[in-house]
Amino acid sequence: MSDCIFCKIIAGEIPNYTIYEDDFALAFLDITPRAKGHTLVIPKMHAENLLQLEESYTEKLLTAVKKTQEKLDKVLQPAGYNVGWNHGQAGGQAVPHLHIHVMPRYNNDGGGNMHSIINNPGSGSVEEVYKLFE
Ligand code: AMP
Ligand code: ZN
Repeated sequence: MSDCIFCKIIAGEIPNYTIYEDDFALAFLDITPRAKGHTLVIPKMHAENLLQLEESYTEKLLTAVKKTQEKLDKVLQPAGYNVGWNHGQAGGQAVPHLHIHVMPRYNNDGGGNMHSIINNPGSGSVEEVYKLFE
């Protein structure tokens, strides 16, 4: 997409710090890192989110995440990771091109885990919510 900042990075029109690349995905250092080595992995095909990504890319994107972690492991030796993506405005997504955050974690780095993103389960028991799926 012509006005998409991450499509411009893929096209080489915006400089970036690429640490892994293959035919389907690009991994580059986040410009405002929340952890040392904070990396974004993006599909080379424009898609706003996972639901809009062509099915054939999904497996390849996860493979690129793995390759990226292997690279980060080798260079920075983190003690762990948080890996995930913000989906939609409510989920905190600012750039409308799917990007997977790979955040290396280090012992005693002061960070939290996935549960620290949200703690607002709303009304209804788990059983009541489950019934909605039946
Ligand atoms: P999100 O809230 O998931 O949409 O996060 C977007 C991320 O993209 C943020 O962490 C930004 O720091 C990062 N970002 C935005 N522009 C660039 C850029 N040109 N190069 C690298 N990272 C970027
Ligand atoms: Zn794009």
